[in-house]
Amino acid sequence: MTTAVLPTYARLPCSFVEGTGVRITADTGEEFLDFGAGIAVNLLGHAHPHLVEALTAQAAKLWHTSNLYQIPGQERLARRLCDATFADYVFFTNSGAEAIECAIKMARKFHAQEGHGERYRLITFEGAFHGRTLATIAAGGKKAALEGFGPPTDGFDQVAFGDVEAARAAIGPETAGILVEPVQGEGGIRPVAPEAMKALREMCTQNGLLLLLDEVQCGVGRTGRLFAHEWAGIEPDIMAIAKGIGGGFPLGACLATGRAAHGMTPGTHGSTYGGNPLAMAVGNAVLDVVLEDGFLDGVRRAAGTLRQKLAGLVDEYGDIIEAVRGEGLMLGLKCRVDNTLLLNALLDRKLLTVGAADNVIRLLPPLIVSDAEIGEAVDKIAAACRAIRTTANP
Ligand SMILES: *Cc1c(COP(=O)(O)O)cnc(C)c1O
Repeated sequence: MTTAVLPTYARLPCSFVEGTGVRITADTGEEFLDFGAGIAVNLLGHAHPHLVEALTAQAAKLWHTSNLYQIPGQERLARRLCDATFADYVFFTNSGAEAIECAIKMARKFHAQEGHGERYRLITFEGAFHGRTLATIAAGGKKAALEGFGPPTDGFDQVAFGDVEAARAAIGPETAGILVEPVQGEGGIRPVAPEAMKALREMCTQNGLLLLLDEVQCGVGRTGRLFAHEWAGIEPDIMAIAKGIGGGFPLGACLATGRAAHGMTPGTHGSTYGGNPLAMAVGNAVLDVVLEDGFLDGVRRAAGTLRQKLAGLVDEYGDIIEAVRGEGLMLGLKCRVDNTLLLNALLDRKLLTVGAADNVIRLLPPLIVSDAEIGEAVDKIAAACRAIRTTANP
């Protein structure tokens, strides 16, 4: 098939036409169970009535004005995000990478404002993923993402995953801060231990550095807390979010303390679309649901159920699945067979999942997933494991 779409993705041969909740229908009429949620984006599933209502109501009124004017939806969403977190300020973007770009610029500006413009470097971790812009591929440090794109953007020093002592050793006179995903997503659902998160926080405070968190994938209720860093009982200085906060509408944000943000004065940063009325209507609607009393309790309960059933699969199919890891409804199946083999076997059984590095399959269901849907998904995984076993030992 010829395509006019730049072929930067090796796409699966599926195309979807509509969805409701955790279910999504292909153009063939086949129904799938969506445990990929558009890579942790469809936080509340497909066509959530409250989100549809918020978006269509706003669409009938006003789409866009630019940030030359006041945007009430922005004021409201920013206030609500700050009330629920460590933050004093929020900058809205259209994507995760832009939210990280804002975080990187803010960290550099902070030190420049303090009279230390030489402090511009960030310590990052192996396996990290921070986006696809020139700065964020340099931050991620993955060779395949950098190759052929000229000299990598300067200012990132990578150390081994979760290695607190290596991070300490990497601090120099040019270090501005530490950038870390509390749970690596693309890297293979690798949570940083709470003690390590605490140690990084302490290290930043003691050395006058800023702690920057990338919660683009693990934030907004995904791990069973509003933000993943809450599990470690720490607070960052700056945090990038995206994916789940828009529930499928392109939306990201960079949250920061007043101290960390003090260099970001008028004219220092901007975005034409960022925080436009459509995005704000949806972001506020997502928060309406996620901040509801008991919602996160429900996520933790569902996560416990899924995790327990998956542990049962590891017991039964240890030759296919080596381990389950992750937090909340951000779980990874570390595979013993090639992960694409399992992913395709799951696709054959109408279960959508997402691959990740380290031979992992990601399970990222919408946070509204029911026990029945969890049971159904686990049955499909068991059936796929049996099929792979039969093919391997006919
Ligand atoms: C997806 C992702 C990004 C990049 O977000 P985009 O919206 O694709 O730019 C950055 N960091 C993490 C942890 C992500 O999962």
